[in-house]
Amino acid sequence: MKYIDTNIIEINSINPDEESVLKGAELIRKGKLVAFPTETVYGLGANGLDVKAIANIFTAKGRPQDNPLILHVYSIDQVEELAIDISKEARELMKEFWPGPLTLLFKKSTKVPNIITAGLDTVAIRMPDHPIALKLIEMSQVPIAAPSANTSGRPSPTMASHVEEDLSGKIDMIIDGGTTGVGLESTVLDITGKQPIILRPGGITLEDLRNIVPTVVEDQGIIHEDIVPRSPGQKYKHYAPKAKLILFTGEVDNMVKAISKKAYIYISQGRNVGIMATDETIGRYKEGISISMGSRKDSRTIAHNLFNTIRILDSKGVDIILCEGMERSGIGTAIMNRLKKASSGNIKKV
Ligand code: AMP
Ligand code: MG
Repeated sequence: MKYIDTNIIEINSINPDEESVLKGAELIRKGKLVAFPTETVYGLGANGLDVKAIANIFTAKGRPQDNPLILHVYSIDQVEELAIDISKEARELMKEFWPGPLTLLFKKSTKVPNIITAGLDTVAIRMPDHPIALKLIEMSQVPIAAPSANTSGRPSPTMASHVEEDLSGKIDMIIDGGTTGVGLESTVLDITGKQPIILRPGGITLEDLRNIVPTVVEDQGIIHEDIVPRSPGQKYKHYAPKAKLILFTGEVDNMVKAISKKAYIYISQGRNVGIMATDETIGRYKEGISISMGSRKDSRTIAHNLFNTIRILDSKGVDIILCEGMERSGIGTAIMNRLKKASSGNIKKV
């Protein structure tokens, strides 16, 4: 792959400077790749109607061609052009949760290139809740295709430095707007069939969605190990540290004991051990490099810190990460979905 000079610019997230955002928008219009912050994670953006630019996203990330991309819009008018048969439920969900971390699947219009949808007849669309992202899309005057701005398989980026680590020399610009809020990718909801179904858990929870559309269910493939998930993206190895990650589930006290014991064994074998702990438990680990992701009473903070904690432990050169599991409710479902993937199924029930 040809080396590209990556220009990094800082933009204030709360009140973005229009001239700076315009530089990014001009690059998008020219078919270039621009990473930008959203409220979930950093996205790697390209003109969503430019087949060549979209192909470059797949190359820069090393993303499998059969994993479709999400189109990002700044107005519902844009959705009218990209989707057909927009249902009443879809309109209610857009009204309630947009801008926000909810991606909706629609029947695609002919305007959407096949490379976006990996040949499927549905297209995923979302309106991000971030002033830089919204301004960038508006100024580009096109929908922006944007998967997470990481190398495929690595943890998603929640800071510009993570994007730099993975994609420097492969993309044209990184807009540094500070740390992202939610820290996990959007919820993906398929509302094109009879039963609305969550294909990927994320920032908007099952409970949130059921308040608007009570019939929403979760794809069993995102909950159970032995069921194949429906969404193409869910079948790939994902969010993985360089180290081997082992996920523990069960009562908190049992997890702490099991992790401490494992840490002791690995360290006596001369291995470097990292521990992903919580405020309530961190004081109990006597060995290894332990980092708290936040309080168990505040799973939003744990979600916010999750990917960064994995990257920090990687940068400390650990070869084993022992991670505490969380309760599977609210955003905990999304946290456990990412951790399950990061562990490649290496899960110890204690
Ligand atoms: P990301 O790479 O984080 O942008 O993730 C996009 C997610 O949305 C992946 O899990 C994709 O597989 C999923 N996705 C995008 N478009 C579709 C679609 N048309 N049908 C099903 N899943 C989709
Ligand atoms: Mg991704």
